[in-house]
Amino acid sequence: MNEAVETSGLRADPSAPKRNVIQSFAPITGELLGEVPVMAAEQVKDVVSRARRAQELWAVRPIADRCQALLVYRDAILDHSEELCDLLARETGKPRHEALLHEVMIVADLITYFANEAPRILASEERSVHLLKYRKSIVSYAPRGVVGVIGPWNFPLQLPLRDVIAAVVAGNAAVVKPSEVTPLIMARAKALWDECGMPEDLLGVVTGLGATGAALLDSGINLCVFTGSVGTGKRVAAACGERLIPCILELGGKAPLIACADCDVERTARAIVNGGFANSGQICISVERVYAHRDIHDRLVDRVVELTRELRSGDPSKEFCDIGGVTFEHQIDVAEKHIADAVTKGARVRCGGKRIAKAKMAFEPTVIDGCDHTCTVMTEEIFGPIVPIMTVSSEEEAIQLANASHLGLNAYVFTESDARGRRIAERIEAGSVVVNDVLINGGMPEAPFGGMKQSGYGRVMGEEGLRAMCHVRHLCLDRVKLPAKSPIGFPYTETTYRWFQKGIRAMFRSGGVIKRLSQLF
Ligand code: NAD
Repeated sequence: MNEAVETSGLRADPSAPKRNVIQSFAPITGELLGEVPVMAAEQVKDVVSRARRAQELWAVRPIADRCQALLVYRDAILDHSEELCDLLARETGKPRHEALLHEVMIVADLITYFANEAPRILASEERSVHLLKYRKSIVSYAPRGVVGVIGPWNFPLQLPLRDVIAAVVAGNAAVVKPSEVTPLIMARAKALWDECGMPEDLLGVVTGLGATGAALLDSGINLCVFTGSVGTGKRVAAACGERLIPCILELGGKAPLIACADCDVERTARAIVNGGFANSGQICISVERVYAHRDIHDRLVDRVVELTRELRSGDPSKEFCDIGGVTFEHQIDVAEKHIADAVTKGARVRCGGKRIAKAKMAFEPTVIDGCDHTCTVMTEEIFGPIVPIMTVSSEEEAIQLANASHLGLNAYVFTESDARGRRIAERIEAGSVVVNDVLINGGMPEAPFGGMKQSGYGRVMGEEGLRAMCHVRHLCLDRVKLPAKSPIGFPYTETTYRWFQKGIRAMFRSGGVIKRLSQLF
């Protein structure tokens, strides 16, 4: 986000910048919900230093203890779920069901999963050594120190806490820089952390604009987990490269949905509507483009339009509704531009297409048919409630088009054939491919999550994500003590050289000693 976009619509009170605060407004009503300070680099450094001191005490606690403490935090979140859902509905404009299921429940499940599984995943393991049998090889996982977590506005509870939980369970401290668009939720999550007796400085929160995020990268953190746009991700990667800090980048998505000729049309239509319009399409794994086989295209599109027209929009802080607000106003401009472009290129808006008049910031769920790859709506991230649809004539064409993207986070395939689903899934260039469902992998803590291509690198969640929070340490120990004078050390003589030459041939040629050795122990 550039600075002009970053600050738009955030401050109704013109004195706010002078007071160095960010104000947060409800997208549906425009009501002022609260404000947070814009923290300067020195304050960020101070939070990181305190986190580092807390981490030293935390890391020496047995992992079972750390897991137990996190379960207390989970229970505090569950005890306050109504309050959190209320704040989420007001600050992001998302429906209450989504606040509960996509944010509170996922966090509770992640803590439960890591509390149960982290002792196993992070246990030291012995690796079998195939050649140097007299040595013992142990791989162990050591915390990195302080993990900086920089987050976006679309899941302001779930996404930062996802990374905080993994960091902390692995023995790190975490410092979160929440999005300036939705800063209040992480502030409440931090207050709950302190209230339930977690070590206070182990979780720090630094609020502000992009400059505060940049200051966090410059504050001596040991790993950065960044979730946000491709543009900012590149700046974060460059800053981390400059400081040689490892980083995990969770960036944008352009998830294709391939509807095969043999798909269950009703299931596929419902999935498209759910996957396209949940959180008003502001999910990195939203259904962002549909490739419908010509044999089912007309039936599928008619049903998608019918189901979309049934969706009820409203103010989630006051009523149960399906469609709430657009959290960040800039996304409405993006949606309008995509729609205008698609119409110019001959596509047809089948329903929706404009702002919802009764709300300050909300957009109608929109279905556009007759798209192709000349339309920006098929090739650039939308991050809004638009589902563009294109007809395809074959499985091969759908795969080629799905892969014709600079992004590769999630993808979806709908087919009644398990074999076809698997075959297509294995050819799609995306970090996760889901067959006959949508969005679901975001709530599977066992599975690694992350992107290919410009959707980023590294993985969060799963064993891979938890281990990424650690240094991998190799301990090379004695199994058998050899004589002090090693045969592979000095002095190098012609005799030892000839001896090795013969020995190496005998060991490595097919069926040689090495093959038999590796089968031993
Ligand atoms: P953004 O890149 O504009 O901002 C993300 C965060 O980066 C904010 O907290 C911001 O203050 C901070 N930031 C800005 N400049 C910075 C800098 N120079 N150094 C450090 N931090 C800086 O993204 P956004 O608009 O908040 O979020 C929307 C994007 O996030 C979409 O592209 C979406 O696809 C992506 N996203 C990805 C995932 C995923 O898991 N892959 C999940 C959710 C959202």
